[in-house]
Amino acid sequence: MSNIVAIVGRPNVGKSTLFNRLLERREAIVDSTAGVTRDRHYGKSDWNGVDFTVIDTGGYDVGSDDIFEEEIRKQVQLAVDEATSIIFMVNVEEGLQDIDHEIYNLLRKANKPLYLVVNKVDSAKEMLAATEFYQLGVEKYYTLSSATGSGTGELLDDLVADFPTTEYKDPFEGLPKITIAGRPNVGKSTLTNALLDDNRNIVTDIAGTTRDSIETLYNKFGHEFVLVDTAGMRRKSKVSEDLEFYSVMRSIRAIEHSDVVIIMVDATLGWESQDMNIFSLAQKNRKGIVIVVNKWDLVEKETNTMRDFENKIKEKIAQFNDVPILFVSALTKQRILKAVETAMMVYENRKKRIKTSKLNEILLPIIEQTPPPAIKGKYVKIKYITQLPTPVPQFAFFCNLPQYVKEPYRRFIENQLRKQFDFTGVPIDVYFRQK
Ligand code: GDP
Ligand code: GDP
Repeated sequence: MSNIVAIVGRPNVGKSTLFNRLLERREAIVDSTAGVTRDRHYGKSDWNGVDFTVIDTGGYDVGSDDIFEEEIRKQVQLAVDEATSIIFMVNVEEGLQDIDHEIYNLLRKANKPLYLVVNKVDSAKEMLAATEFYQLGVEKYYTLSSATGSGTGELLDDLVADFPTTEYKDPFEGLPKITIAGRPNVGKSTLTNALLDDNRNIVTDIAGTTRDSIETLYNKFGHEFVLVDTAGMRRKSKVSEDLEFYSVMRSIRAIEHSDVVIIMVDATLGWESQDMNIFSLAQKNRKGIVIVVNKWDLVEKETNTMRDFENKIKEKIAQFNDVPILFVSALTKQRILKAVETAMMVYENRKKRIKTSKLNEILLPIIEQTPPPAIKGKYVKIKYITQLPTPVPQFAFFCNLPQYVKEPYRRFIENQLRKQFDFTGVPIDVYFRQK
């Protein structure tokens, strides 16, 4: 279950400064899309080993013709709908404003842990001025200087301590979890329905829980897995103008809950930047990936159409292109079973564990043949290799001088692992460690 922290407040109070500070050293996942004035609004952070997601609600959709109140209303709605905890930020420089009262009253109704944060408290002088915010009727507020980071520790200690701790018992524990992700209208629902139509043993919507996705058991043709569906796909979002953003948020969460992501692309549109965003998201979360080009029935085919299409996608995802690409029609059900089989194959690849003895037996001779290039007369000697006991494939190469192994050699090693052991569709990590 993901903990989501939303930062809400008037423009200029310092929301994105805090957001960026929380994300420091960690990369924001959603990159720039057209019309978004700031390029990041969603990212991962952690405090004392507890992971959480941060949304900068002001970072989205600050369109030029948006009226101020309207903008705030959307932020509040987003926080209320999507967050587990809400940081309401005000700032001491401009002091308490009428709109702060309004926002606070709306947020309070959400019945979620709510933290009033008084920002730009850079010195003791402002500390005193901050007391005016008691007028909001809070028992406690946090003073912060987002610019220097002072005060963040106390806030985060409380924030993390208040996260819901209810252990959720997964009714589908141990089964592969697969999600179909993609832009609106690529055909996700059509494929979901095609897969589930004549499948009667359906379990949906676990009542009384705060699940943010619907999970449906698929059990047919010898395959059993759970289709993780985003709530927004079957129920239309109530805030229609934010449909795109909501669908992004929901697919982010569905992806986090899955083992394998089927990224659906519209054959009539080709691979676009939003497809790349979804791909990067799945890759950064270390999920298995299958690319499914849908609506293939609409494409005029010549001899090389499929190959050319595939090559174009492979070029775009060049940094990690050991990924299956299939051409289907959800409408005519052409090759949809193949898509399922491929997703299961990727699932198995992601679970694959290779014995240390096997790794060494196969890779050490290759490394001996092609050792890391010497740097300043120093030779790197790789002594042995082991797969780490992690849920996704990670390998440690123990050597004398790990700092001398550069990216091209790491890539060479990754390619060898892929060639020898087949990790198609699965992001893998290769580490060089001191021994
Ligand atoms: P947002 O519109 O709420 O996201 O606000 P920003 O994060 O963009 O910050 C608005 C301005 O306030 C920027 O010029 C920041 O550099 C400045 N700012 C943010 N946090 C602090 C702080 O803690 N102290 C001071 N003095 N300035 C800050
Ligand atoms: P979603 O928003 O990704 O769930 O997309 P939908 O499943 O609602 O599909 C959007 C539209 O594309 C609908 O009109 C579908 O009938 C159509 N569609 C979906 N898959 C295919 C396909 O394989 N071929 C054709 N020709 N149309 C499709």
